[in-house]
Amino acid sequence: MEKKKVSIDKSLCIGCGCCAGTYPDDITIGDDGLAEVINGVAEEEVASVCPVGAISVEE
Ligand code: SF4
Repeated sequence: MEKKKVSIDKSLCIGCGCCAGTYPDDITIGDDGLAEVINGVAEEEVASVCPVGAISVEE
């Protein structure tokens, strides 16, 4: 699957870990307890796992 540019709005992220747990190659939980994109890109489906809509995918 093609990876796309992804950004995370840390003001919305609640650190649930769903994104990092589902896509550990793309997203990690940082020292601040919030999600971070590892290489700036991720599977576009990653946005659908976030319960608060903090993940944006660039089209
Ligand atoms: S799924 Fe959303 S709220 Fe949960 S850690 Fe990832 S970005 Fe944050």
